[in-house]
Amino acid sequence: MLTRATKSLTLLLFAASTSFAADFGARFDEIRKSASPSELYAFLFALPKGGDLHHHNGHSTYASVWYAAATSPKTLARNSFYTMTQLGNCPGTVDTQPRFITIQRSHYEALDACQKALYQPLASLSAETKAAWLSAFILDKPGEGRDEFFERVVPRMGDLGHDPWLAADALVENMRLFGAEGVRYIEAQAGITAFVDVAGRPMPADDAFRVIEERLRQPDAAATNVTVRFQGVVIRFAPDAEQRLENMYAWVAAHRDRWVGINMAGREDNEKGSALRFLDTYRKMRRTYSDIPLSIHAGEKDSAGHEVRDTLLLGATRIGHGINLITDPDTMLLMRNNRYLVEINLVSNRVLEYVPDTSKHPFPEYLRTGIPVCLNTDDRGSWDSNMTDEYYTAVTTFHLTWKEVVELGRNSLTYSFAEAPLKEKMLVEYDRAVAAFEQKYGSSDWHGAVRQVKPLVSGYATRTWGFR
Ligand SMILES: [Zn+2]
Repeated sequence: MLTRATKSLTLLLFAASTSFAADFGARFDEIRKSASPSELYAFLFALPKGGDLHHHNGHSTYASVWYAAATSPKTLARNSFYTMTQLGNCPGTVDTQPRFITIQRSHYEALDACQKALYQPLASLSAETKAAWLSAFILDKPGEGRDEFFERVVPRMGDLGHDPWLAADALVENMRLFGAEGVRYIEAQAGITAFVDVAGRPMPADDAFRVIEERLRQPDAAATNVTVRFQGVVIRFAPDAEQRLENMYAWVAAHRDRWVGINMAGREDNEKGSALRFLDTYRKMRRTYSDIPLSIHAGEKDSAGHEVRDTLLLGATRIGHGINLITDPDTMLLMRNNRYLVEINLVSNRVLEYVPDTSKHPFPEYLRTGIPVCLNTDDRGSWDSNMTDEYYTAVTTFHLTWKEVVELGRNSLTYSFAEAPLKEKMLVEYDRAVAAFEQKYGSSDWHGAVRQVKPLVSGYATRTWGFR
């Protein structure tokens, strides 16, 4: 029981913290307008950010993290990787592989002498070749956009994501980096079919994810303070995508403690992956399975269309990107003040040239007409960006208010597919972190508090805004 004195103290503290929150909007505006660009970046790096609901497991991880993990003594004791450093015309081969495609030892050993000569061990690249390898995984040069990403960066990953031990090490490092910038939850899109063992034999998903689960139980994974859930992702234009979708339903239903939903990804300008192709399959699945939420890429296009409407019809409650939703008034009206969230990816949409000029992005229209949205990083490893870049872009381009910033963070947890007790816990922790943040930066010396932040500046932020 509280004594009278404690009670009044509690009330006093509560009143103080509420008035803080009310006042912080003005302080946030002051910081947004008067902080230097690098101070604002540091401030937004320190901001509690909730979750990242839209990112792809392998391509979310930086090339530098893949490189370090693939060449670590721990990995080399078990497996090793080779990268194609030269193009060549070997007899009997079709020359379609991009330079720097990276494969594991078993696949290297199966090559003929001519092909082998095109590869070098990843662990013994010269400094110059290593720099070229890292750059080959990033859209960092003028003219590199959608085709570079889908046709070259994606294939270059080769076997890196196929080795579950390596994928698990990369995931834990990715969690640590997300945690450093105040992200507490990630809902990574992952596949279940591509894993191989060191001999190159296909690995059943249960065996591969046993390895990953074991890694996630290690103390360094727990120390990241980041909770991971997976969404099973199906590539939509695959000839057998319906069967893969059925397999994914069975997998998610059998692994609900870690797997919380299903997604579909892949270029929407490839007509073979249209949403309505899958309507019958989703309906068939719902005759068997209950409560498997869907978040599906839709409207990641620079042309008008009804992809978002068709994807809601499939049963999705979250839409990845939703860029061309703005061209479909009936669906926009349906989504206002409703329960369907659009996962916004500002940096991705810019670098893949779906919205090259971010000031023309429909995000503020959705945010300010009552369509739930949150910010996400998509394939941030390939953009060399981070969640802070998303917030910095949004705050500086659209003059977000504090209320809007907090709404974005809360939405990223409220609309997550995390199980109810976890979601509740994360929301309580988020509110607590936001209150502590307001207190810290609400003091008269907010400059001093910002100067203490040592942000991990992304390569994207260096190239785009010149931060060091
Ligand atoms: Zn995506």
